[in-house]
Amino acid sequence: MENVVFIAPPAAGKGTHSNSLKEKYGYIHISTGDLLRSEISKETEIGKEVKAVMDAGNLVSDDIIIKLLEDNLKNIIGKPFVLDGFPRTLNQAQKLTEIFNKMNIGYEVIFLSIAQEEAMKRTLGRVVCNCGKTYNIYEETLKPKVEGICDVCGSKLVKRDDDNEESFKIRFNTFLKNNEPILDYYKGLNKLNIVNVNRDRKFVFEDVEEVINDNY
Ligand code: ADP
Repeated sequence: MENVVFIAPPAAGKGTHSNSLKEKYGYIHISTGDLLRSEISKETEIGKEVKAVMDAGNLVSDDIIIKLLEDNLKNIIGKPFVLDGFPRTLNQAQKLTEIFNKMNIGYEVIFLSIAQEEAMKRTLGRVVCNCGKTYNIYEETLKPKVEGICDVCGSKLVKRDDDNEESFKIRFNTFLKNNEPILDYYKGLNKLNIVNVNRDRKFVFEDVEEVINDNY
């Protein structure tokens, strides 16, 4: 099974499809946003440094995120993984190529393309659980069975501190600004696969599955 690098604006479904790859094929899900949120909840030095930056919707520094990612990749050698939330700048993309080459890791990039209004609606409806499960109160099939409670572990669901309109707009605009050079870069490496997500989730995931199976 081919390793996957998801590139997408906020709330396009990177997390949801990563989770499906985990459940159906045993992929390891590496979300750089989750790695950072875990540093924040553990109140580490990194966590203290990135909290305000993340809440405002800005990117954390390349140095911090690259180090966190490298440390995590070392732990999963040999298992298929999906990378969600990295790269977000051309510099990160180039660095990732170096890391993958060094570790002899193959991969395909999947770009999830979504319209801004749809992404904003999804962001504002998103509620998450500590266990990693994500829900959306605006979508029938993604609502929790009991309002405000996780179906999987029964914990209370919360909104992420950065899932508000102001932070969303900054995140989306940062994405638009940085994304074109990243897509061009992967097009040049012949690694780019584009999947339109303004459709039923089932069809989107079928396209993702096609990429991981065809390229292996
Ligand atoms: P979303 O895709 O909904 O914005 P993520 O969980 O992927 O959510 O990211 C949340 C935040 O974590 C980002 O807004 C940013 O502050 C930080 N972050 C995550 N990945 C990176 C990265 N590769 N580079 C810099 N900052 C990152």
